[in-house]
Amino acid sequence: MRPLILVSNDDGIAAPGIRALAEAMAELGDVVIAAPITEQSAVGHAITIREPVRAHPWPKEAFPFAEAAYAVTGTPADCVKLALSALVPRRPSLVVSGINNGPNTAVNIIYSGTVSAATEGTMLGIDSVAFSLAEFGQTDFSEAARWAKRVAAEVLARGLPPGLLLNVNIPHNVEGGIRGIQTTRQARSRWEDEYQTRHDPQNQPYYWNGGRFVNLEADATDTDLAAIEAGYVSVTPIHYDLTVYTYLDELKTWGF
Ligand code: MN
Repeated sequence: MRPLILVSNDDGIAAPGIRALAEAMAELGDVVIAAPITEQSAVGHAITIREPVRAHPWPKEAFPFAEAAYAVTGTPADCVKLALSALVPRRPSLVVSGINNGPNTAVNIIYSGTVSAATEGTMLGIDSVAFSLAEFGQTDFSEAARWAKRVAAEVLARGLPPGLLLNVNIPHNVEGGIRGIQTTRQARSRWEDEYQTRHDPQNQPYYWNGGRFVNLEADATDTDLAAIEAGYVSVTPIHYDLTVYTYLDELKTWGF
């Protein structure tokens, strides 16, 4: 039997990136799509618990190559949880998320809805991969989808250890073509927040974050940011266990 592949994203079911990803995945297995009905970028791992979540069957014409598609009134993590509980006909072999509009590198992984959909797949015991096109505002995801297919095929063949997922960033429009795949770590980085103060028609102030991203190790060559810069697909193994094991013994000496 062909493997079942669940496809989600955070840009919403109408985004071009999820169509390209789902079409590429249909060459590897049977595809079911469960994606947010509206854009959910930067919602992180939020889930919906105070209101119901609905899954609207999406027109077949939008994804003719898929077994089924649902637009979910929730977050990316909701989509994966709901799909696995109520929408898929059998247990998927793989959960993929993306292809995101814009990079999910460095510290941005923590904010990413794209990565969180894949993280949720991993938490539920299914091999999962997040894919992002490392440049905002693009409409052609065909080259990125070819690289996504290559990575997904490898994951289907090899499997991943429990608790670990892959975060994949694909450069756009590399001169001479994408050079290959590099395994990377997250670059250390931060956002220099800059909240613009504006005023509403009642003259009340409101604030809009227009921060600036800073790579704190621009000279490193083994990071996700460096790989993208050098024209390579970046593949980073990540996990959601936030415990700092190397500090456990030190913390015990505090004598709580
Ligand atoms: Mn997004």
